[in-house]
Amino acid sequence: MSGSLVSRFETSVMNTYGSPQLGLVSGSGATVVDEAGRSYVDFLGGIAVNLLGHAHPAVVAAVTEQISTLGHVSNLFASPPVVALAERLLALAGRPGAVFFGNSGAEANEAAFKLSRRTGRTKIIAAEAGFHGRTMGALALTGQPAKQAPFLPLPGEVVHVPYGDVQALAAAVDDATAMVLLEPIQGESGVVVPPAGYLTAARELTSAHGALLALDEVQTGIGRTGYWFAHQAEGVRPDVVTLAKGLGGGLPLGAMIAFDDAATLLGPGQHASTFGGNPVCCAAALAVLDTIESEHLLDAAKRLGERIRKGVEALDHPLVTGVRGAGLLLGVVLRGPAAGALAGLLRDKGFLAQAAQPDVLRIAPPLILTDEQADAFVAALGPALTAVQPS
Ligand code: PMP
Repeated sequence: MSGSLVSRFETSVMNTYGSPQLGLVSGSGATVVDEAGRSYVDFLGGIAVNLLGHAHPAVVAAVTEQISTLGHVSNLFASPPVVALAERLLALAGRPGAVFFGNSGAEANEAAFKLSRRTGRTKIIAAEAGFHGRTMGALALTGQPAKQAPFLPLPGEVVHVPYGDVQALAAAVDDATAMVLLEPIQGESGVVVPPAGYLTAARELTSAHGALLALDEVQTGIGRTGYWFAHQAEGVRPDVVTLAKGLGGGLPLGAMIAFDDAATLLGPGQHASTFGGNPVCCAAALAVLDTIESEHLLDAAKRLGERIRKGVEALDHPLVTGVRGAGLLLGVVLRGPAAGALAGLLRDKGFLAQAAQPDVLRIAPPLILTDEQADAFVAALGPALTAVQPS
């Protein structure tokens, strides 16, 4: 085939993402290389996925070893990686429960949707501007009417309340509520951090009404915010946690963990996924968890996040109104819709970042980022901010 990857993509891959920005052919650590041989430091991390960056030796070794030993098996059988990963996730949460494995964040949230129906109640409360995926159930949970509009009607019965507003949540939760589903930090809607105590209040309200509290940690989980699970920062005990993105070390893996009594809501024959929790993806995930531990990457996420935040704040640039987020999930908030243009300028300087919102540049690099790479990004950001024109 002739032509660039980008032009071939445009005439063969379904246009649900728009035109690709680059054709990427290889990666190592926090760096990726495009088809013209140019290198970029990946502050997008596959959109908050690549905790260990690209081609991490631990993931490569685990995947190679597992696919050479036992590849896909049906979930009618148990295999060592799936059992070990479920045990490990429960140990990291420090609570008894059960894990359902799927292949993506949307699938993890679909599982939570179905699990909630088994309470005998149907009402679900989620947050305005929240993002939970693009399948029909996950889209129903997503609090973004523009994304939902072309696909109505969606599965019911989901009520969306303003994010971070305890009073609005208190007014909505009642004895008919099956589940409240929240992101600990809203990622897609621009790295929005709720007020301190919000998740604790959500826990108290759901407990008082016998409803489940589910936290979508697809973006925040597995170390990205400097904790295994972002909710651990506030010491909250949810009934359900959904995971994907960083969990599989770049391989497709999603998980729904249900704790305590919620662990038995879904019974035999009520849910399944052919590939969910296949041994190769679970082996990759175990390598991710081992490496986060052995390389002290929770601390690295906190330390590097602070370094970048302080660096951006020290630029004291008039276009920046603030930096928000936790660990290595950060949003640089701009005075006006300049984030897309800014990401373009940064790309020209060899950094991949992304406009989570027109006025928010999202930074979600791998946790193995070096101090030098963090500093180089901040150094490039200053002139890029000055060059950018809010559009
Ligand atoms: N939940 C959250 C919080 C997400 O950020 C995303 C993806 N951006 C999803 C769910 C959906 O995950 P996936 O694309 O793997 O279906």
